Amino acid sequence: MKYLCKTCKKKCNDIPEHMMKVHNFSKKIVESQLKAKADCYKNAFEVLEE
Ligand SMILES: [Zn+2]
Repeated sequence: MKYLCKTCKKKCNDIPEHMMKVHNFSKKIVESQLKAKADCYKNAFEVLEE
């Protein structure tokens, strides 16, 4: 399954990794956001069926 980032229009397989590499989020921030809400990035990404 792949995801399309609505912010930068790039595809990725791993949302946390994308947030860190492309959007320069720190690992600490991504982890704490996912811990608080597992689907917190759901609205920012579109799921692409392949
Ligand atoms: Zn992006």
